Amino acid sequence: MQRKLVFEIEDEDNPDDIFDKMSIEIKKFLSTKSENNSSNVESFFCDDCGQKVSKKVHDYSKRNFNDKIYCMNCQPKHKEGN
Ligand SMILES: [Zn+2]
Repeated sequence: MQRKLVFEIEDEDNPDDIFDKMSIEIKKFLSTKSENNSSNVESFFCDDCGQKVSKKVHDYSKRNFNDKIYCMNCQPKHKEGN
C-alpha cells in the first residue's frame, strides 16, 4: 500500500514555519517507515544467556525444551541438566 505524506499548512503561516513543519513531517514519515520495516523482522532471544536466536532455533527449542527458548550453545546444557 502506498503511503502519502500530507502537509497541513495554514494560510497565516509564513514560509519559514512551512519549511519547519515540512521537515518535522518528513522526519516523522521516515522514522515511522523504518519502525514498520524493523517490526517485520522477528527476533528471539535465548532464555538463558540472552543471545539472539534465529526463528529456526527458536522453533526447535520450544518443541524440545518445554516451550523455552535456548540458543545453540545453551541447548546441550539444558538437555543434560534435566
Ligand atoms: Zn543461550
